[in-house]
Amino acid sequence: MTRADTIFENLEKFIKHISRLRKKRRGSVVEIRKIRGPRKSPNHISRQSILEKTDGRCHVCGGLIAPDDKWQADHIFAYAHGGNDSLANYLAAHTYCNNYRRSFSAEEFQWVLKLGVWFRTQIEKKNHLALELADKFMKHEIRRDSRRRK
Ligand SMILES: [Zn+2]
Repeated sequence: MTRADTIFENLEKFIKHISRLRKKRRGSVVEIRKIRGPRKSPNHISRQSILEKTDGRCHVCGGLIAPDDKWQADHIFAYAHGGNDSLANYLAAHTYCNNYRRSFSAEEFQWVLKLGVWFRTQIEKKNHLALELADKFMKHEIRRDSRRRK
């Protein structure tokens, strides 16, 4: 039961599964830092060569990275899961996009995408539970934005 397309028999099993993925990721981050030290910036590789790999686009959202946009050299295979610091393991990502991608494992990230797409569809269908959650989400975003501005 590790594939993202696994159908869970009930909500409890799904919640346990995504919690397990989170714990595994957090444990992995702590272990990797103990062994390899904190993640370093790719100073040995030019940022320009990383940006050229995707023709100046963010590998997460596909949007253009404008010259004055904040962007990061993202590890494709997360450092926290053992990914290395070679040019082959870096792609450009908007800072905003990379912050949301975090160091999710592939399966955890697939679940996040799947949930997000499904949730958006439910909002469009005016599912009242989805609308209630969307309202909470918007209030959360407004609070986050006002904290960020302080
Ligand atoms: Zn992006």
